[in-house]
Amino acid sequence: RQAQFAAIRSLPAETSDGVHVSVMVNAGLAEDAATLSMSGADGIGLFRTEFQFLVSATLPGRERQQRLYTKVLDAAGDKPVVFRTVDIGGDKALPYLTDIQDEAENPAMGWRALRLSLDRTALMKSQARALIEAAPGKVLRVMFPMISEPWEYEEARALFEEQIAWARKAKRAMPSRIEFGAMLEVPSLAEMLDQLLPRVDFLSIGTNDLTQFLFAADRSDPRLAQRYDWLSPAILRFLKRVLDQARAANVPVRVCGEMAGRPLEAMALVGIGAENFSITPAAVGPVKAMVRSLDAAAIRNKLDRLLVKPPRDMRKTLTDWARRHS
Ligand code: PEP
Ligand code: MG
Repeated sequence: RQAQFAAIRSLPAETSDGVHVSVMVNAGLAEDAATLSMSGADGIGLFRTEFQFLVSATLPGRERQQRLYTKVLDAAGDKPVVFRTVDIGGDKALPYLTDIQDEAENPAMGWRALRLSLDRTALMKSQARALIEAAPGKVLRVMFPMISEPWEYEEARALFEEQIAWARKAKRAMPSRIEFGAMLEVPSLAEMLDQLLPRVDFLSIGTNDLTQFLFAADRSDPRLAQRYDWLSPAILRFLKRVLDQARAANVPVRVCGEMAGRPLEAMALVGIGAENFSITPAAVGPVKAMVRSLDAAAIRNKLDRLLVKPPRDMRKTLTDWARRHS
């Protein structure tokens, strides 16, 4: 089976009826980018920049950040890389930033990610400069984590635009294009998509955080791990609405997080109209194999019906369907 997946990795992820699914990987270290060509992935759909901060003994300055981003972009070659600005704070304590280690009762819902970046703008500014200067002549793709309301995206973007203007004025070699995206992982943002979509180049759904907030269930508590299912109608309906709205606005959506890395879940995601995934590298083979054996029109049709009148056990229904159809 491993050998079979290895062979499939280099083939395109296309369904039997010709729907192309883009399969990218999640990464966080320079080493991850180095293995990109072997993984068979179409690019890095989520580069978690906080890894560098979490593994460092001292705060990585602009130059150290820039060296990493350059290395990642070089290793990726022609394949796209989406850099996510730091998701630190909350329970991701940094030994050298003692004042951001708080004893929050609910760190996942606390002062983290973009919330912290917008309050500590020096950190965000140094990251913006590092990213801009790491991509001369290349497309730079940046996205912001944990956005709850559109103004947070606007503020983060304005901060970046300031650094772009500065770099231009200073006659730095600039990226050929800069794209900005928002991560949808806080449910409130889904209510404001009409305001957000016209302002973004792409949307990225973080299913790990999104499901923990939708179900109010700590993603790190093993006692809850089996309780709520990614294939539950609540999640699938929620995601379908987001995908439909984004498609109507012509904004590409990528599904990140663990959900899309599981073949059955990925099948359901294709069934509600998702066509871009970013998953863990080990899942590329299995997910591509699933996509290549799938009839997209048939699963879409099936999901349309199942979401109107959900079965008691969606997982079982979809497992049975998958067995009969591939
Ligand atoms: C997510 O929340 O699904 C996500 C992709 O980000 P992270 O897992 O880094 O929080
Ligand atoms: Mg997240």
